[in-house]
Amino acid sequence: MKLSLRSLLFDLIFFEKCPICKGKSYWEIAPFCLNCWERIKPLKSQKIKSGYFNKYFWKYIDILYSYSNYEGPLKEMIHYFKYHKIMRLGRQLGKLLCKIEKPSVDVIIPVPLHYKKLRSREFNQSAILAKELSKAWRIPVDFDCLIKIKNTQEQASLNKSEREKNIKDAFFIEKTLENKKVALVDDVLTTGSTLLECAKALKRHGKVREVCAITLARAI
Ligand SMILES: [Zn+2]
Repeated sequence: MKLSLRSLLFDLIFFEKCPICKGKSYWEIAPFCLNCWERIKPLKSQKIKSGYFNKYFWKYIDILYSYSNYEGPLKEMIHYFKYHKIMRLGRQLGKLLCKIEKPSVDVIIPVPLHYKKLRSREFNQSAILAKELSKAWRIPVDFDCLIKIKNTQEQASLNKSEREKNIKDAFFIEKTLENKKVALVDDVLTTGSTLLECAKALKRHGKVREVCAITLARAI
């Protein structure tokens, strides 16, 4: 990871300790240090097309890409990004995600938040990741076609069957994307129920041909 000149200049007056190892962090990658960033290891098999989930999942998700495992520094960073609301961190995480193999898709769509959640969190973490992918891959991003109509509970607090019930029919398609190949972006994959519900909406009502799910981390 290279630091920009702006970051190095800023660091003359900036000092923050890495919340994981207490090492010196740099403004651009703050609050974490270079060492912790470099400890994030890419998965050996970032691209999967079968296994881990049931047939129903693979009926709607054609390919799944994840950059790394949901553990160690990456888990801490995603938590900081979402709950400490550090947008800069999201852009750096997005740059990591850009390192996966570029899929052959027509449009990038982030997993949306309900408008009430968006208001309280102030940003959609998946949309920030999607923007970075869009810039790096020169593929357009569509923020409006998939919307979340159900204000669900936080999935993290629920078990697998509760998650499925909680997220069921939570998404709605504003317009069809007839025959298009879509990259559906989320920060973390755990049970896969959020991605599955989005993909169902995209394929059933949006007439999408292929859904390629992309997540920064996966906990499977
Ligand atoms: Zn550190």
